Amino acid sequence: MFRCTVLASGSKGNCTVIRTERTRLVVDAGLSCREIVKRMRFAGEEPEKIDGLLITHEHQDHIQGVSVFAQRFRIPTYFTGATHAAWKRILTPRKTMSYLAWLEERKRIAATADATFVAHASDAEEQSAGTAVSTLAASVEQPALIEEEYSTALPALEFFSAGKSFTIGDIAVTPFTIPHDAADPVGFVFEAEGMRIAVATDLGYMPPNVHEQLRRADLLILESNHDVEMLRDGPYPWSVKQRVLSRVGHLSNDAAAEFLTEAYDGYARWVILAHLSESNNLPELARLTAERALQRRALHEACSVLLASQTMPLEAITL
Ligand SMILES: [Zn+2]
Ligand SMILES: [Zn+2]
Repeated sequence: MFRCTVLASGSKGNCTVIRTERTRLVVDAGLSCREIVKRMRFAGEEPEKIDGLLITHEHQDHIQGVSVFAQRFRIPTYFTGATHAAWKRILTPRKTMSYLAWLEERKRIAATADATFVAHASDAEEQSAGTAVSTLAASVEQPALIEEEYSTALPALEFFSAGKSFTIGDIAVTPFTIPHDAADPVGFVFEAEGMRIAVATDLGYMPPNVHEQLRRADLLILESNHDVEMLRDGPYPWSVKQRVLSRVGHLSNDAAAEFLTEAYDGYARWVILAHLSESNNLPELARLTAERALQRRALHEACSVLLASQTMPLEAITL
């Protein structure tokens, strides 16, 4: 048995379970731990039995629940070195001074260096205000430090590199580089029992190395992020539109269809369209665009097109 369950897909969170009878992997933890657990239980998966959590890249919609989920269930977490460093940077609070800390600092300097200022400030009202500030500042700073240690600590940390295959249990994992505006983003090919599942989302275009990796996939999870017209006319600021449309942004419905028409080998029994934008796409439009592409090659009967959803798990596909 080789099975794939997309628990969530889209800019508000991504999470997928890939498993055999013996090995259970999770790709990305882009929802809160609580939501991941809820969706896993709904899909009949047990978070207590996960053997590995693999991270594609450090964007929020792929990492939101990583530390809490990994720690709570003692799951080894797999990153590339650059993605791990970027993830840690994101979780480390900036060292700029808060207003409360600044007040506290000013009070401390005044108390030690300027006796006249302190005498003046020891007016009852100011002093009590000062005490309140100092207590509040302490209570704000303390948990922040604990949180920092807590959030980047993982029960077990494993590194991988794009292009180098490794195995977890009875699943072979091949990470491959994708063009996206993150430190070291990857897609994955998973192989077990002679079958392949390929995951390619969050990519600006389809370079030849990605075509190569998606060959002979029995199940293909392919980004179909936006309709170009909807994005152009849609609510995003121009800078964001440019980012999404760029070579390191996201794959449009047309780009996914172009791949299915021209470079795709026609092997898969399932294509799951994923990472659909809620603002700049319509599920039926994405489906229609992909199905037309398959029809042009008379592949539509051999291949089912499914839509991954942001709000609920897609029914498990057993290969
Ligand atoms: Zn994403
Ligand atoms: Zn991303």
